[in-house]
Amino acid sequence: MSFSAPVKDMLFAMEHLANIEQVAQIPGFEDAGLETAQAVLEECAKLCEGVIEPLNIPGDTDPSSLKDGVVTTTPGFKEAFAQFAEGGWQGLQHPVDFGGQGLPKTIGAACLEMLNSANLSFALCPLLTDGAIEALLTAGSDELKAVYLEKLISGQWTGTMNLTEPQAGSDLALVRTKAEPQPDGSYKIFGTKIFITYGEHDMAENIVHLVLARVAGAPEGVKGISLFVVPKFLVNSDGSLGERNDAYCVSIEHKMGIKASPTAVLQFGDHGGAIGYLVGEENRGLEYMFIMMNAARYGVGVQGIAVAERAYQRAVQYARERVQSRPVDGSVPGAASIIHHPDVRRMLMTMRAFTEGCRAMASTAAAAYDAAHHHPDAAVRQANATFYEFMVPLVKGYSTEMSLEVTSLGVQVHGGMGFIEETGAAQYYRDAKILTIYEGTTAIQANDLVGRKTARDGGQSARAIAEQIARTEADLQATATPAALSMARHLQTAREAFLQAVDFVAGKAKASPNAVYAGSVPYLLLTGNLVAGWQMGRALLVAQDKLAAGEEVAFMQAKITTAQFYAEHILTRVPGLAHTVCTGGDSACALPLEAF
Ligand SMILES: Cc1cc2nc3c(=O)[nH]c(=O)nc-3n(C[C@H](O)[C@H](O)[C@H](O)COP(=O)(O)OP(=O)(O)OC[C@H]3O[C@@H](n4cnc5c(N)ncnc54)[C@H](O)[C@@H]3O)c2cc1C
Repeated sequence: MSFSAPVKDMLFAMEHLANIEQVAQIPGFEDAGLETAQAVLEECAKLCEGVIEPLNIPGDTDPSSLKDGVVTTTPGFKEAFAQFAEGGWQGLQHPVDFGGQGLPKTIGAACLEMLNSANLSFALCPLLTDGAIEALLTAGSDELKAVYLEKLISGQWTGTMNLTEPQAGSDLALVRTKAEPQPDGSYKIFGTKIFITYGEHDMAENIVHLVLARVAGAPEGVKGISLFVVPKFLVNSDGSLGERNDAYCVSIEHKMGIKASPTAVLQFGDHGGAIGYLVGEENRGLEYMFIMMNAARYGVGVQGIAVAERAYQRAVQYARERVQSRPVDGSVPGAASIIHHPDVRRMLMTMRAFTEGCRAMASTAAAAYDAAHHHPDAAVRQANATFYEFMVPLVKGYSTEMSLEVTSLGVQVHGGMGFIEETGAAQYYRDAKILTIYEGTTAIQANDLVGRKTARDGGQSARAIAEQIARTEADLQATATPAALSMARHLQTAREAFLQAVDFVAGKAKASPNAVYAGSVPYLLLTGNLVAGWQMGRALLVAQDKLAAGEEVAFMQAKITTAQFYAEHILTRVPGLAHTVCTGGDSACALPLEAF
């Protein structure tokens, strides 16, 4: 089935929820208004639909393979990546100074979504490269920037993120890879990294590994970790490729999903030491890596939205075609296509509402990122940074968890055929599962939301968001339509439940950590649910105005209906989750360890 990028919904979110025209008032983004966004999205859609999507199923059935240390990607990937690079897509939101296009994240995020809808495995390579670029831009020396940034931004080289080791997954304090200082200022790196996405491949001429390692004598734990650039090929002073570095792929994993994306075990330093270059200062590696991880975490959240959109489109098509059973309302005399059955409609609406809600949340967060990084007023930058920081675990944690529910519903809509690989529905479900694991599991996102984003400021940022939601409720009530009143009522109930959960989390995190952290994932799910629902409430308000003005009638009616569905079927989960957060901790931890 062909994929059609949801350009209209993306532009709606960008224009009315993320306020792209306001973003375009930030110096440097003057040319990045709605018109530019539309042109960029339409161009990107052509590439994604026409070139990258047709490689999605082949990637699943004929994944990357390793032979004699060489990783060969699925036929067609290399050529498609060349086209992606030639089009300048890797540099979309990176600085013009290094050859990028300097567009805001608000636009970049929408392109990232369609790229991932088209082909999650393919899109991972640019996503990791984005993270490497961000880290170098923030912490790299001028020399490192000069050698690596242009080539990464042009897509001539790609980037990787090397955190995980066999004994160090969620807990990076356990990283053991060693870095030995050399007289010329470089380091020799020794160690094993596992699960490295696109750690080896044939799509670009060089691979720039960003590697966490410990310099001898560094403090224990996370305070003793440094970040290094370790290129696959060393770079000569004129920028040409030099000797092969001592960083080799020794195996790639056989996986449940995202099969085309090579997940490598990399061995550093088995033949005398891999040459690495320090990024920033020694022992500040984790801080820099968090820059990469924040970019990548947001990106993985967008992957969740992307695969959900894809699953939804496929499910709608199947539901229109598959004929089975007489509708309960007798609207068709005999068997009808399954889209006539109320439960199939409920499933499709759930898929649609989740996807649109999370897209709206991610788009709003992207605009906050742009203001946080580029707005001329420091106070505006700070306020947006606080908001964005709060949103990152929600975009990552909630959008990816919802993608599991959506892709599972996608299989369910297909009935038995969903379980059969040919329909493609199963691939989305398998592909989606990794999203709640890499770049920090959902529990790690929830720990971040509870600890750094809620308890640390005594719940202040969380309550500030609740105040904004209350203002949307008032606006909805003022319009007094049935859909707006329903949304206002459900938002209010959900917001009040959220505030109870915030009081509990902020008040008890220190005194009763087990009780609070046992409810951390439910707290993340309820907060993400509420924030996405709030965006649907804002969308409903805009859609009502546009409908009254006779603009895009069918689209606006559908937006209102989808928002009302979100309120009545999804926001309603929030009070139950809040109850779990506030009262469920004891039972989660009551069973003695030996009873498991
Ligand atoms: C396909 C794939 C691609 C990957 N790509 C990369 C990559 O490019 N670069 C890279 O460095 N890594 C990569 N990873 C590694 C990935 O980031 C880790 O697998 C992930 O962070 C989880 O670590 P772990 O597997 O060691 O699980 P563990 O840390 O062992 O976690 C196991 C379980 O314990 C829970 N847990 C652990 N600690 C806590 C805690 N403090 N609180 C609550 N629960 C906790 C987890 O939530 C999880 O449910 C990739 C992994 C895969 C499978």
